[in-house]
Amino acid sequence: MKILILGAGVIGTTSAYYLAKAGHEVTVVDRQPGPALETSFGNAGELSYGYASPWAGPGIPLKAIKWLTMVDGPLVIRPMLDPRMWIWGLRLLGNCTERAYAINKSRMVRLAEYSNERMVELRQLPGLAFDGREQGTLQLFRTQAQLDHIHGDVEVLKQYGVRYEVLDPAGCLAAEPGLATAQVPFVGALRLPDDDTGDCKMFTEGMEKLAREAGVVFHFGTTVDGIETAGDKVTGVRTSRGVLTADTYVGAMGSYTPLLVAPLGIRLPVYPIKGYSLTVPITDESVAPLSTIMDETYKVATTRFNDRIRVGGTAEIAGWDMTLRPHRRGPLDRSLRDLFPKAGDLSKASFWCGLRPMTPDGTPVIGKAKFDNFYLSTGHGTLGWTMAAGSGRVLSDLISGTKPDIDTSDLGLSRYAA
Ligand SMILES: Cc1cc2nc3c(=O)[nH]c(=O)nc-3n(C[C@H](O)[C@H](O)[C@H](O)COP(=O)(O)OP(=O)(O)OC[C@H]3O[C@@H](n4cnc5c(N)ncnc54)[C@H](O)[C@@H]3O)c2cc1C
Repeated sequence: MKILILGAGVIGTTSAYYLAKAGHEVTVVDRQPGPALETSFGNAGELSYGYASPWAGPGIPLKAIKWLTMVDGPLVIRPMLDPRMWIWGLRLLGNCTERAYAINKSRMVRLAEYSNERMVELRQLPGLAFDGREQGTLQLFRTQAQLDHIHGDVEVLKQYGVRYEVLDPAGCLAAEPGLATAQVPFVGALRLPDDDTGDCKMFTEGMEKLAREAGVVFHFGTTVDGIETAGDKVTGVRTSRGVLTADTYVGAMGSYTPLLVAPLGIRLPVYPIKGYSLTVPITDESVAPLSTIMDETYKVATTRFNDRIRVGGTAEIAGWDMTLRPHRRGPLDRSLRDLFPKAGDLSKASFWCGLRPMTPDGTPVIGKAKFDNFYLSTGHGTLGWTMAAGSGRVLSDLISGTKPDIDTSDLGLSRYAA
């Protein structure tokens, strides 16, 4: 089957690899000159299978008010007259119940754990180097209240058989010795020893190479302008290199996918949530992080790459605005200075922002949408790389007519109709 994938972020590129391996003739188009040059470029570097959770949860509305009033808080809203933003926000609030949280978290963990299994296989492939580490993640709590709040998450981890450890401060130091130089107290951590880390851009470049070897053709510098349909079929995609045709089409343009499919009458509840990151050269390895530390107070993740540290966080709700706001560095600088003050040279850091494609329930949308030969794979939100390998594989199975290894019945758009 001829398949045209729209978007060469980590989702589109990984999907292309699996679809080619399943025997399809795959083409990928992207407006950028290479893969992973938008949101997949500078993320926080966590492959945090066990940490996969929706934003929306009980208590989040109150927490959101606190975050909005905090200096260097993790949430920023730039109110706009954009009805899509308000509708999305209301749907997110509707998911802030115990019941919805449990359902959404279990969907995300199911997909993330499946991704973990697929990543174990991908890691064996020659040439896939991405500064990867397999040393777990540490969700670090500065206050007892944060530590007391983990029971709900722990129940879901138990349900899915995800290994975890609850650590006291000495346990935190054993896992991350560099925390001995921290300038702030911490009371403990939830450690997920099976989580991994690495550079998502390098991973995606590696997947592009593997996909090419499997026969995938990439057309970079190609902007998608619209989709043509006739009856219950997509018949072509209008691009800057003319109309491209295939048997089956996949929308994987991250935060831009809802704009593409809206004229087709597909209401895709994905909204961009901007995040920022710093990439800092390491100056003293002995006090640098070993893996990912999630600073729960500021919701900032600090991840060790080989000779760099990636610090990522902030949720700015500002539509598709890509302005790199200098003052948003504050929380990232502060978290690194608080926890690993001597590890890197912040004056030489590079600063970046990207748009997380977020659904209101945290789970991505993977599956057929409205037309017989049109699929979506987007809405991977805060942990898109973590879910990429599993998403690529289930998408490939769905398109190939093979039964996926995990339940995908609640991953598609139809869950919103219900
Ligand atoms: C600050 C931050 C930290 C994060 N940390 C983590 C983390 O630690 N772990 C994790 O798992 N995830 C993390 N994420 C989330 C993760 O990065 C995203 O979920 C993931 O990158 C989304 O991938 P994607 O392929 O869907 O989107 P993208 O990477 O944005 O890819 C979409 C592609 O579509 C192309 N495109 C868009 N419009 C058009 C058009 N009209 N024509 C042609 N091409 C088009 C773009 O060029 C782009 O290449 C983080 C995100 C941010 C912002």
